[in-house]
Amino acid sequence: MDLNELNELYQDTLLDHYKNPRGRKTIERCDVQKQGFNPLCGDRVTMCAAFKNDTLTDISVESKGCAISVASGSMLAELLPGKTIEEIERIAEAFREMMHGKEVPDDIDFGELDALEGVRKYSSRVKCAMLPWVTLKDMIRLWKQNSAPDNKPSTTEDTERYRSIRNS
Ligand code: ZN
Repeated sequence: MDLNELNELYQDTLLDHYKNPRGRKTIERCDVQKQGFNPLCGDRVTMCAAFKNDTLTDISVESKGCAISVASGSMLAELLPGKTIEEIERIAEAFREMMHGKEVPDDIDFGELDALEGVRKYSSRVKCAMLPWVTLKDMIRLWKQNSAPDNKPSTTEDTERYRSIRNS
C-alpha cells in the first residue's frame, strides 16, 4: 500500500506521527512491559505502562516497523494517558470495530486515530494499525492479574473512620 492512496489530510497526520512518535520516551516507572510482533509485516513494538489505581498515568511506545504501525502506536501514546482502564478498553474495542468497517458510537474520543480509518480498505495492513492495541490489551490483562484485592491503596476514608471509632 502506498500512503498516497490515503486521504491527503490523513496522510499529513500519519506522517507527522511516523516522523515524531509521541511514545518514544523513557518513563519514570514501568509497571507492565510488553513486546508485540506482527509477523505479517514484521512490525515490532515494545511498550511500558505506568498505572495508578485504575488510571493509565504514562506509557512509552517504541516501534520498529512500517509507518502505519508506528503512527498507530504514537496516537495511542498521545491519546490514552490520564484515562481509566475502562475508558481505554472502550476506545480499543471501538478502534478495532472501526478498523473492521463497523459503526462506532459517536461519543468515542478517538483523538487523531481517525486518520487511520482509511487503512481498513487494505486488509493486510489492518494488523499493522492493531499491533500496539493488541499489545496494550495484554498489558492491561497482566496489570489486572497482578493487582490482587489486598493491593488496594489505603484511603483517607478508612483512616477517618478508624479515628472516629477510637475517639468515641
Ligand atoms: Zn506494518
